[in-house]
Amino acid sequence: VENLRKVYKLRKGNFRSEDFVAVEGASFTINRGETLALVGESGSGKSTIAKMVLQLEEPTGGKVTIAGKDTAKLNSRELFDLRRTLQPVFQDPYGSLDPLHNIGNTIMEPLNIHKVGDTASRKRRVHELLDQVSLPRELATRYPNELSGGQRQRVAVARGLALKPDILVLDEAVSALDVLVQAQILDLLAELQRDLGLTYLFITHDLAVVRLIADRVCVMQQGKILEQATTEEVFENPQMEYTKNLLAAIP
Ligand code: ATP
Ligand code: MG
Repeated sequence: VENLRKVYKLRKGNFRSEDFVAVEGASFTINRGETLALVGESGSGKSTIAKMVLQLEEPTGGKVTIAGKDTAKLNSRELFDLRRTLQPVFQDPYGSLDPLHNIGNTIMEPLNIHKVGDTASRKRRVHELLDQVSLPRELATRYPNELSGGQRQRVAVARGLALKPDILVLDEAVSALDVLVQAQILDLLAELQRDLGLTYLFITHDLAVVRLIADRVCVMQQGKILEQATTEEVFENPQMEYTKNLLAAIP
Protein backbone atom coordinates (compact mmCIF):
# COMPACT_ATOMS: atom_id res chain seq x y z
CA VAL A 1 0.00 0.00 0.00
CA GLU A 2 1.63 3.17 -1.20
CA ASN A 3 0.59 6.71 -0.43
CA LEU A 4 -3.06 5.71 -0.43
CA ARG A 5 -5.70 8.44 -0.35
CA LYS A 6 -9.47 8.40 -0.25
CA VAL A 7 -11.72 11.39 -0.63
CA TYR A 8 -15.44 10.81 -0.18
CA LYS A 9 -17.97 13.21 -1.68
CA LEU A 10 -20.45 14.22 0.98
CA ARG A 11 -23.78 15.46 -0.36
CA LYS A 12 -24.79 18.89 0.86
CA GLY A 13 -28.28 19.41 -0.41
CA ASN A 14 -29.27 18.65 -3.99
CA PHE A 15 -26.63 20.48 -5.95
CA ARG A 16 -23.65 20.72 -3.68
CA SER A 17 -21.15 18.27 -2.38
CA GLU A 18 -18.18 18.61 -0.13
CA ASP A 19 -14.94 16.66 -0.14
CA PHE A 20 -14.11 14.63 2.92
CA VAL A 21 -10.59 13.20 3.21
CA ALA A 22 -10.97 9.81 4.91
CA VAL A 23 -7.46 8.47 4.22
CA GLU A 24 -4.33 10.45 3.41
CA GLY A 25 -0.82 9.30 2.54
CA ALA A 26 -1.12 5.79 3.98
CA SER A 27 1.78 3.47 3.16
CA PHE A 28 2.61 0.03 4.51
CA THR A 29 3.86 -3.37 3.42
CA ILE A 30 2.65 -6.75 4.63
CA ASN A 31 5.00 -9.63 3.97
CA ARG A 32 3.65 -13.05 3.09
CA GLY A 33 2.59 -14.99 6.19
CA GLU A 34 2.61 -11.87 8.37
CA THR A 35 -0.09 -10.07 10.32
CA LEU A 36 -0.26 -6.32 10.11
CA ALA A 37 -2.72 -4.63 12.46
CA LEU A 38 -4.41 -1.33 11.72
CA VAL A 39 -5.54 0.29 14.94
CA GLY A 40 -7.13 3.62 15.70
CA GLU A 41 -10.28 5.23 16.94
CA SER A 42 -13.65 5.08 15.24
CA GLY A 43 -13.65 7.03 11.97
CA SER A 44 -9.85 7.04 11.60
CA GLY A 45 -10.08 5.37 8.16
CA LYS A 46 -9.32 1.71 8.94
CA SER A 47 -12.28 0.20 7.08
CA THR A 48 -11.74 2.60 4.20
CA ILE A 49 -8.22 1.22 3.78
CA ALA A 50 -9.59 -2.33 4.07
CA LYS A 51 -12.11 -1.64 1.31
CA MET A 52 -9.44 -0.19 -0.97
CA VAL A 53 -7.20 -3.22 -0.36
CA LEU A 54 -10.18 -5.49 -1.06
CA GLN A 55 -10.89 -3.58 -4.28
CA LEU A 56 -14.33 -2.60 -3.03
CA GLU A 57 -13.54 1.13 -3.09
CA GLU A 58 -11.38 2.87 -5.63
CA PRO A 59 -8.51 4.90 -4.19
CA THR A 60 -8.53 8.62 -4.95
CA GLY A 61 -4.75 8.46 -5.03
CA GLY A 62 -1.85 6.12 -4.41
CA LYS A 63 -1.81 2.44 -5.13
CA VAL A 64 -2.30 -1.08 -3.84
CA THR A 65 0.14 -3.70 -5.07
CA ILE A 66 -0.66 -7.35 -4.39
CA ALA A 67 1.83 -10.10 -5.21
CA GLY A 68 3.74 -7.63 -7.38
CA LYS A 69 0.70 -6.46 -9.37
CA ASP A 70 -0.60 -2.90 -9.33
CA THR A 71 -4.30 -3.59 -8.74
CA ALA A 72 -5.38 -0.46 -10.63
CA LYS A 73 -3.93 -1.96 -13.81
CA LEU A 74 -5.86 -5.25 -13.65
CA ASN A 75 -8.66 -5.92 -16.11
CA SER A 76 -11.99 -7.23 -14.80
CA ARG A 77 -11.04 -10.89 -15.36
CA GLU A 78 -7.79 -10.42 -13.42
CA LEU A 79 -9.67 -8.58 -10.65
CA PHE A 80 -12.13 -11.47 -10.38
CA ASP A 81 -9.20 -13.89 -10.04
CA LEU A 82 -7.51 -11.64 -7.50
CA ARG A 83 -10.67 -11.69 -5.35
CA ARG A 84 -10.22 -15.44 -4.94
CA THR A 85 -6.89 -14.95 -3.26
CA LEU A 86 -8.02 -11.98 -1.18
CA GLN A 87 -10.98 -12.54 1.11
CA PRO A 88 -12.77 -10.38 3.67
CA VAL A 89 -13.91 -11.45 7.12
CA PHE A 90 -16.16 -8.79 8.56
CA GLN A 91 -17.37 -7.94 12.01
CA ASP A 92 -20.25 -9.55 13.84
CA PRO A 93 -21.80 -12.06 11.52
CA TYR A 94 -25.22 -10.66 12.38
CA GLY A 95 -24.22 -8.02 9.91
CA SER A 96 -22.27 -10.10 7.44
CA LEU A 97 -24.10 -13.45 7.49
CA ASP A 98 -27.40 -13.51 5.64
CA PRO A 99 -30.08 -14.58 8.16
CA LEU A 100 -32.04 -16.32 5.38
CA HIS A 101 -29.15 -18.58 4.29
CA ASN A 102 -28.28 -21.65 6.28
CA ILE A 103 -24.69 -22.07 7.42
CA GLY A 104 -23.76 -24.57 4.71
CA ASN A 105 -24.98 -22.28 1.93
CA THR A 106 -23.34 -19.28 3.54
CA ILE A 107 -19.95 -20.99 3.53
CA MET A 108 -20.56 -22.34 0.03
CA GLU A 109 -21.46 -19.01 -1.55
CA PRO A 110 -17.92 -18.02 -2.64
CA LEU A 111 -17.54 -21.46 -4.24
CA ASN A 112 -20.77 -20.87 -6.17
CA ILE A 113 -19.74 -17.38 -7.26
CA HIS A 114 -16.38 -18.62 -8.49
CA LYS A 115 -17.85 -21.85 -9.89
CA VAL A 116 -15.45 -24.11 -8.02
CA GLY A 117 -16.17 -27.84 -8.46
CA ASP A 118 -19.58 -29.53 -8.63
CA THR A 119 -22.31 -29.58 -5.98
CA ALA A 120 -20.99 -32.74 -4.30
CA SER A 121 -17.44 -31.40 -4.02
CA ARG A 122 -18.73 -28.05 -2.73
CA LYS A 123 -20.62 -29.90 0.01
CA ARG A 124 -17.49 -31.84 0.91
CA ARG A 125 -15.54 -28.59 1.04
CA VAL A 126 -18.14 -27.09 3.42
CA HIS A 127 -17.63 -30.02 5.80
CA GLU A 128 -13.86 -29.68 5.52
CA LEU A 129 -14.15 -25.95 6.33
CA LEU A 130 -16.41 -26.61 9.33
CA ASP A 131 -13.76 -29.06 10.58
CA GLN A 132 -11.06 -26.47 10.00
CA VAL A 133 -12.78 -23.89 12.21
CA SER A 134 -13.73 -26.55 14.78
CA LEU A 135 -17.49 -26.42 14.26
CA PRO A 136 -19.62 -29.57 14.12
CA ARG A 137 -20.75 -30.53 10.61
CA GLU A 138 -24.37 -30.63 11.81
CA LEU A 139 -24.33 -26.83 11.89
CA ALA A 140 -24.47 -26.79 8.07
CA THR A 141 -28.27 -27.01 8.14
CA ARG A 142 -28.75 -24.42 10.87
CA TYR A 143 -29.36 -20.68 10.49
CA PRO A 144 -27.25 -17.77 11.78
CA ASN A 145 -29.79 -16.85 14.49
CA GLU A 146 -29.44 -20.36 15.93
CA LEU A 147 -25.71 -19.93 16.56
CA SER A 148 -23.74 -18.15 19.27
CA GLY A 149 -21.69 -15.06 18.42
CA GLY A 150 -18.45 -17.05 18.55
CA GLN A 151 -19.87 -19.76 16.30
CA ARG A 152 -21.07 -17.14 13.81
CA GLN A 153 -17.62 -15.62 13.74
CA ARG A 154 -16.13 -19.05 13.02
CA VAL A 155 -18.61 -19.39 10.15
CA ALA A 156 -17.43 -16.04 8.79
CA VAL A 157 -13.83 -17.29 8.95
CA ALA A 158 -14.79 -20.58 7.24
CA ARG A 159 -16.48 -18.64 4.48
CA GLY A 160 -13.38 -16.45 4.11
CA LEU A 161 -11.28 -19.60 3.72
CA ALA A 162 -13.56 -21.34 1.22
CA LEU A 163 -11.59 -20.32 -1.86
CA LYS A 164 -8.21 -21.09 -0.26
CA PRO A 165 -7.12 -17.45 -0.27
CA ASP A 166 -3.61 -16.16 0.44
CA ILE A 167 -4.75 -13.01 2.20
CA LEU A 168 -7.54 -12.37 4.71
CA VAL A 169 -8.68 -8.86 5.49
CA LEU A 170 -10.26 -9.09 8.93
CA ASP A 171 -12.24 -5.98 9.82
CA GLU A 172 -13.12 -6.04 13.52
CA ALA A 173 -13.54 -9.80 13.19
CA VAL A 174 -13.30 -10.44 16.92
CA SER A 175 -14.56 -7.14 18.27
CA ALA A 176 -18.11 -8.15 19.13
CA LEU A 177 -17.06 -11.20 21.15
CA ASP A 178 -16.37 -11.65 24.83
CA VAL A 179 -12.74 -11.92 25.83
CA LEU A 180 -12.66 -15.70 26.15
CA VAL A 181 -14.29 -16.35 22.78
CA GLN A 182 -12.10 -13.63 21.30
CA ALA A 183 -9.03 -15.54 22.48
CA GLN A 184 -10.37 -18.76 20.93
CA ILE A 185 -10.89 -17.09 17.54
CA LEU A 186 -7.44 -15.48 17.72
CA ASP A 187 -5.93 -18.90 18.46
CA LEU A 188 -7.80 -20.35 15.50
CA LEU A 189 -6.54 -17.56 13.23
CA ALA A 190 -2.95 -18.07 14.42
CA GLU A 191 -3.22 -21.81 13.82
CA LEU A 192 -4.68 -21.31 10.33
CA GLN A 193 -1.91 -18.84 9.54
CA ARG A 194 0.75 -21.38 10.55
CA ASP A 195 -0.89 -24.25 8.65
CA LEU A 196 -1.91 -22.39 5.50
CA GLY A 197 0.71 -19.61 5.31
CA LEU A 198 -2.00 -16.94 5.32
CA THR A 199 -1.32 -13.21 5.34
CA TYR A 200 -3.57 -11.04 7.50
CA LEU A 201 -4.55 -7.41 7.38
CA PHE A 202 -6.11 -7.25 10.81
CA ILE A 203 -8.27 -4.29 11.74
CA THR A 204 -9.28 -3.53 15.29
CA HIS A 205 -9.66 -0.67 17.71
CA ASP A 206 -8.43 -2.93 20.51
CA LEU A 207 -4.71 -2.83 21.29
CA ALA A 208 -4.95 -5.79 23.65
CA VAL A 209 -5.98 -7.91 20.64
CA VAL A 210 -3.13 -6.48 18.57
CA ARG A 211 -0.63 -7.71 21.11
CA LEU A 212 -1.96 -11.27 20.73
CA ILE A 213 -1.97 -11.48 16.96
CA ALA A 214 0.05 -8.87 15.11
CA ASP A 215 3.66 -8.86 13.92
CA ARG A 216 3.50 -5.19 13.07
CA VAL A 217 1.16 -2.32 13.83
CA CYS A 218 0.03 0.86 12.11
CA VAL A 219 -1.61 3.35 14.45
CA MET A 220 -4.11 5.56 12.63
CA GLN A 221 -5.61 8.90 13.53
CA GLN A 222 -7.85 11.04 11.34
CA GLY A 223 -7.00 9.22 8.13
CA LYS A 224 -3.25 9.18 8.62
CA ILE A 225 -0.84 6.54 9.83
CA LEU A 226 0.74 8.19 12.86
CA GLU A 227 3.13 5.46 13.84
CA GLN A 228 4.23 2.17 12.36
CA ALA A 229 6.47 -0.42 14.01
CA THR A 230 6.72 -4.00 15.20
CA THR A 231 4.18 -4.91 17.87
CA GLU A 232 6.95 -5.14 20.42
CA GLU A 233 8.29 -1.69 19.58
CA VAL A 234 4.85 -0.11 19.79
CA PHE A 235 4.18 -1.66 23.19
CA GLU A 236 7.65 -1.17 24.66
CA ASN A 237 8.53 2.18 23.21
CA PRO A 238 5.62 4.09 21.65
CA GLN A 239 6.78 7.25 19.91
CA MET A 240 3.61 9.31 19.66
CA GLU A 241 1.58 10.80 22.49
CA TYR A 242 -1.57 9.42 20.92
CA THR A 243 -0.20 5.86 20.95
CA LYS A 244 0.87 6.25 24.57
CA ASN A 245 -2.67 7.27 25.47
CA LEU A 246 -4.10 4.29 23.61
CA LEU A 247 -1.77 1.98 25.51
CA ALA A 248 -2.63 3.60 28.81
CA ALA A 249 -6.30 2.87 28.13
CA ILE A 250 -5.79 -0.92 27.98
CA PRO A 251 -7.40 -2.39 31.09
P1 ATP B 1 -14.71 2.27 12.96
O1 ATP B 1 -13.67 1.92 13.99
O2 ATP B 1 -15.87 3.00 13.57
O3 ATP B 1 -15.13 1.13 12.11
P2 ATP B 1 -13.01 3.24 10.78
O4 ATP B 1 -11.65 3.61 11.25
O5 ATP B 1 -13.18 1.93 10.13
O6 ATP B 1 -14.04 3.41 12.01
P3 ATP B 1 -14.01 4.33 8.27
O7 ATP B 1 -15.20 3.48 8.15
O8 ATP B 1 -12.85 4.05 7.39
O9 ATP B 1 -13.50 4.42 9.80
O10 ATP B 1 -14.47 5.84 8.03
C1 ATP B 1 -13.53 6.91 7.97
C2 ATP B 1 -14.30 8.19 7.74
O11 ATP B 1 -14.87 8.20 6.44
C3 ATP B 1 -15.47 8.41 8.71
O12 ATP B 1 -15.49 9.75 9.09
C4 ATP B 1 -16.69 8.06 7.90
O13 ATP B 1 -17.81 8.79 8.29
C5 ATP B 1 -16.26 8.40 6.48
N1 ATP B 1 -16.89 7.51 5.49
C6 ATP B 1 -16.77 6.16 5.43
N2 ATP B 1 -17.42 5.65 4.37
C7 ATP B 1 -17.97 6.71 3.74
C8 ATP B 1 -18.77 6.87 2.55
N3 ATP B 1 -19.12 5.83 1.81
N4 ATP B 1 -19.15 8.12 2.21
C9 ATP B 1 -18.78 9.18 2.95
N5 ATP B 1 -18.03 9.11 4.07
C10 ATP B 1 -17.63 7.90 4.45
MG1 MG C 1 -14.42 0.25 10.53
